[in-house]
Amino acid sequence: METAARTEHQTADDQSAHHSTSHPLPPRVDVLVVGLGPVGATIANLLARYGVTVLAVEKAKDIFMAPRAIALDNEALRILQMAGITEDDFETVAVPHVRMRSPQFGEFARANTLGTIDGHPKLVTFYQPDLERCLRARLQTLPNAHVALGVTLLGLLEREDEVVATLDLGDGRTRQIPATYVIGADGASSQVRRLIGLEFQGATYAEDWLVVDAQGVSNPIDHVEFICDYRRPIPHMVAPGDRQRWEFMLQPGESRQEMESDARIRALLAPWGRIEDMNIERKAVYRFHARVVDSFRRGRIFLAGDAAHITPPFVGQGLVAGLRDAANLSWKLAWVLQKRASASVLDSYDMERRPHAKAMINMAKLMGKLVMPRNLGLALLVHGLMKVSRLIPRLRAQFEELEIKPKPIFRQGLFALAKTKRALRTGGLFPQGWVRGTDGSIRLSDDVLGQDLALVGFGCDVAAALGSDTADAFAAAGGKVVQITHRGQRLHIAREASWEDLDGTFLPRTMPLGWVAVVRPDRTILHAGHASYADQLIWESLLLLGVPVNAARQACLAEAAL
Ligand SMILES: Cc1cc2nc3c(=O)[nH]c(=O)nc-3n(C[C@H](O)[C@H](O)[C@H](O)COP(=O)(O)OP(=O)(O)OC[C@H]3O[C@@H](n4cnc5c(N)ncnc54)[C@H](O)[C@@H]3O)c2cc1C
Repeated sequence: METAARTEHQTADDQSAHHSTSHPLPPRVDVLVVGLGPVGATIANLLARYGVTVLAVEKAKDIFMAPRAIALDNEALRILQMAGITEDDFETVAVPHVRMRSPQFGEFARANTLGTIDGHPKLVTFYQPDLERCLRARLQTLPNAHVALGVTLLGLLEREDEVVATLDLGDGRTRQIPATYVIGADGASSQVRRLIGLEFQGATYAEDWLVVDAQGVSNPIDHVEFICDYRRPIPHMVAPGDRQRWEFMLQPGESRQEMESDARIRALLAPWGRIEDMNIERKAVYRFHARVVDSFRRGRIFLAGDAAHITPPFVGQGLVAGLRDAANLSWKLAWVLQKRASASVLDSYDMERRPHAKAMINMAKLMGKLVMPRNLGLALLVHGLMKVSRLIPRLRAQFEELEIKPKPIFRQGLFALAKTKRALRTGGLFPQGWVRGTDGSIRLSDDVLGQDLALVGFGCDVAAALGSDTADAFAAAGGKVVQITHRGQRLHIAREASWEDLDGTFLPRTMPLGWVAVVRPDRTILHAGHASYADQLIWESLLLLGVPVNAARQACLAEAAL
């Protein structure tokens, strides 16, 4: 089939609906995304929203229905928001806490996940096929996004200024399509990774796990619990659509076929209610891995999501890490393609994302040790120590308040090494809160920043502080100026870009009055400082993006830095 500029919106019940065949493939594209799993679909949405022409090819004709990701954190929900997915678009259940208990100690650890960070719940569960459907439906609304289902990438040939991809169209024909850049979001067995000769480093776990989703459970829970019995550890959690999820570690001698049989699953689920009332919706046996590729990039070809890193799911961060890749890479490619940044900014993708992905995998491995101690002796030692550590407030907070979770702060990458106030740490994430515009509309602040590079002033008129050549250069690099004021403050009421901080996210405590931040489209703080240096901050930011800055201006910046 010569496919498919638009996918048809599939429903879980309508697995026969594949895709429209009415639109031919474009002759060339800015970016080819290989794989339309959740990461590829998010990247395609983001790129198209930035104005890039993108083609996503997917070898499967239907959305993958096996039980996989179930938990998303606030960072993931924020990235989906950037991709145009609101919290009403797919069903989620906010999780109040994560409990860890063992037969020997009862509850020995707990993490509080109540509340929100940056405008989103700290932890939710969701139904992955729903999210994927929603991402695909959103793609249909974007004129420069093309989707081809049932189309498989066979080969890649990189030239100086493009990559030519050979595609199997699924009907015996092949087709070659040139793209300026290619992203392999083609999952753990990535063909792209193989074609560019990169390899996974890391380990595969020895244990298999049976994952079961069921509906109509008479004793459901509203949270996540880890039953850390060394003989059979069982993570168990609430999920949307009246679902509950269990993961049962297989014991030595238990086979995949035996464990996937209805009789065996019914016996395993019996402690949670009347088995005749339950609908066993999905089941699969998995072996987990902890692996990261050597580099997320080779030339014009990038890897994202499971193609670049795979993690055991004990902290629910596999897809979340892939969404972070999507946010980090998409705007950089868009800026380079639109000549608002030099190609050198693309080096920062691997520099920023790989250490963070590794840190998340290390946390998942640590959690794995808590969940599945190998014997009774280790269970007593590890769980006992965890229980005792709760008596020490500092240690208790590490786990309970999620302080052990790697922070979204880069050590090196595309940001200025500026001395800033803590909340404005460059290389960290800019916060998000609710803001009210001069027209009375109330919005999440990221929606105000939109798809742009932003200069945000706190309680000050930063636009007035900029020289006109600086303002012009910033606008040409895709920049816009936003002013955030105290709630009720009327600094510049006539200004369209003035927003009141409704919930105190920005002012007065966290952001210093009279300061400004330059925020990347993925919400990482690029630069920050006092408004009186706004011109300098902008020019230094433009230099980081590789925007040509004239020699006189460079000399001034060098002088200012002394
Ligand atoms: C049991 C389990 C529980 C999990 N729980 C969580 C969780 O709670 N939270 C979380 O964040 N993550 C979780 N994960 C991980 C999460 O499911 C994955 O990280 C995520 O689905 C990866 O998405 P992806 O888009 O990178 O890859 P995939 O979803 O694998 O998509 C890759 C796509 O590429 C396509 N493809 C492959 N080769 C080609 C080719 N040559 N040409 C064209 N298309 C191709 C495939 O058909 C596929 O559709 C869990 C995983 C498992 C197994």
